[in-house]
Amino acid sequence: MINQRIKEIRKVIKNKKLIVVSKNRTIDEIYEAYKIGHRDFGENRVQELIKKYEQLPKDIKWHMIGHLQKNKVKYIVPFIHLIHSVDSLELVRKINSVSEKNNVKTKCLVQIKIAEEDSKFGMSLDNYEEIKKHLPNYSSINIVGLMGMATANVKKNQIKKEFDFLHKIFKKSNNLNTLCMGMSQDYKIANECGSNMFRIGSFIFN
Ligand SMILES: *Cc1c(COP(=O)(O)O)cnc(C)c1O
Repeated sequence: MINQRIKEIRKVIKNKKLIVVSKNRTIDEIYEAYKIGHRDFGENRVQELIKKYEQLPKDIKWHMIGHLQKNKVKYIVPFIHLIHSVDSLELVRKINSVSEKNNVKTKCLVQIKIAEEDSKFGMSLDNYEEIKKHLPNYSSINIVGLMGMATANVKKNQIKKEFDFLHKIFKKSNNLNTLCMGMSQDYKIANECGSNMFRIGSFIFN
């Protein structure tokens, strides 16, 4: 079942990066994806992420895809593969200082707010432009790309507009290699709009 769904996604995204979103899934369910070769998993809550990290094989690459509070950074920096949800300069500073202490360089994406709804996290384009100026001061954090979530349950052309917007910013930014857009509902549109990393959960597991 999981295998079939992943194959279906692969037909669309080809060899681009797939993050299997495992939030709310059991260890057994994650193991099923692991057994067929999957190594990149995404979680949106620190506590759940840590629990799963401890119980599952250590060659899994864990992705933090949900909003991250500064006081929880220290729990995930030692093992996290990629943080998708950097949304403030304060968080940049915190990840940098904790990474320095741990002697690691932490890979991150900046989450840009592209959806119309207020509830979604992420920073504005202006904010991102401002933060870019400060990044050279923080050598233990490595911003490798951008992440965005489109508005849910709207027409395709609205979603496309939002993804196109982020793609344009991505194209203009040098030194970035990752554009992470697309979930179960909209990964095909994200693929058309130039995404090269996808976060998909319910389509795979339901
Ligand atoms: C849950 C979640 C996803 C995956 O959503 P699905 O609709 O289950 O594919 C992707 N990104 C983030 C940030 C999420 O919290």
